[in-house]
Amino acid sequence: MARLVMKFGGTSVGSVERIKNVAQKVKREVDAGHEVAVVVSAMSGETNRLVDLVSDVASLHDAREYDVVVSSGEQVTVGLLSLALQDLGISARSWLGWQVPVKTNAVHGAARIERIDCAEIIKRFDDKQVAVCAGFQGIGSDNRITTLGRGGSDTSAVALAAALEADRCDIYTDVDGIYTADPRIATKAAKLDKITYEEMLELASLGAKVLQTRSVEMAMKHRVKLQVLSSFEDLPGTLVVDEEDIVEHQVVSGVTYTRDEAKVTLQQVADRPGVAANVFGALADANVNVDMIVQNVSEDGKATDLTFTVGRKEVTQALAVLEKLKGKVDCKAVVPDPNVVKVSIVGMGMRSHAGVAKTMFAALAEKGINIQVISTSEIKVSVLLAEEYTELAVRTLHTAFGLDAA
Ligand code: ASP
Ligand code: MG
Repeated sequence: MARLVMKFGGTSVGSVERIKNVAQKVKREVDAGHEVAVVVSAMSGETNRLVDLVSDVASLHDAREYDVVVSSGEQVTVGLLSLALQDLGISARSWLGWQVPVKTNAVHGAARIERIDCAEIIKRFDDKQVAVCAGFQGIGSDNRITTLGRGGSDTSAVALAAALEADRCDIYTDVDGIYTADPRIATKAAKLDKITYEEMLELASLGAKVLQTRSVEMAMKHRVKLQVLSSFEDLPGTLVVDEEDIVEHQVVSGVTYTRDEAKVTLQQVADRPGVAANVFGALADANVNVDMIVQNVSEDGKATDLTFTVGRKEVTQALAVLEKLKGKVDCKAVVPDPNVVKVSIVGMGMRSHAGVAKTMFAALAEKGINIQVISTSEIKVSVLLAEEYTELAVRTLHTAFGLDAA
């Protein structure tokens, strides 16, 4: 007997038929004798619809009321799934965030889970009852409903698995696992049987949209065994595990990309102490997240270009911040460029292999692809390229690192 958390995303519960299909999957685990808690998202498209309703009524909204509205999608799916399970003869009960309770801080719209008290849910496991919990929501320290940020039900599921000390947290979704690259682009991409938390965390934050980044951080911290698998097929998925659980490491495990960033260049900015501190200090004060940064030394010691990337949606705000710095930080021009893509390679094996960056740059050069910005960490190398090269770059790197499936 095992204790399982099963999480189903929006597409998996996108219609009544699909909710019934989910009930069958849950029934199978219950019939096998397992203790099961389920976490569900809202039906696909529903949260977007609710967000739009909020902005239609008030463009500058009160975040507490935003949470009341957008959390309601999950209330529908927990009720429907509980009914579908009961219809199959399974004892099931729905739980909203405040009922569990899932206690969070009071940062509405982007709350963080502080504690989950699941004593009552565990007690009911003894009576073979399935807990059907609403993802994405909690109860804030201000005693009001909170939401965890878009995609937050992954984090709900992992947090519940940690609190329940579950044997595994299965994330059912519309893909059947983690691939070496986006299979829509790299047709030779292969499904990974296993991947480490560290690699998954990099992939999630570098563009792979399968899991919310925060959920991977939490799984890593609490050593929750995660599996990503399809809710439409009966196949094993990808296990996200500890490093020691993987016998042989590829140098590079995956190639990923994101078009969510834009490049901003300050041309001919003064080359003296304090300039970078002023620019990035002002951006930070305005809550604009900066990702990649490059600056070169100037030939004459006077002026040089300073380039960085921010989220595409934050470019306007970044430009406004820079405009206000005029007089303090002078430059010839501020040039935004949204037509860029960040392509990254990720792999634990990089730590012990030399020449990974060289292989990457050489492969791109051979295709005539110019690299605009580079950033690295212990287990990843990212490059910023013109957006038109997205597909070519992903495929080229996939081949260069020997990831093409036979
Ligand atoms: N329904 C929420 C959203 O669309 C939470 C989730 O699906 O993870 O963001
Ligand atoms: Mg999701």
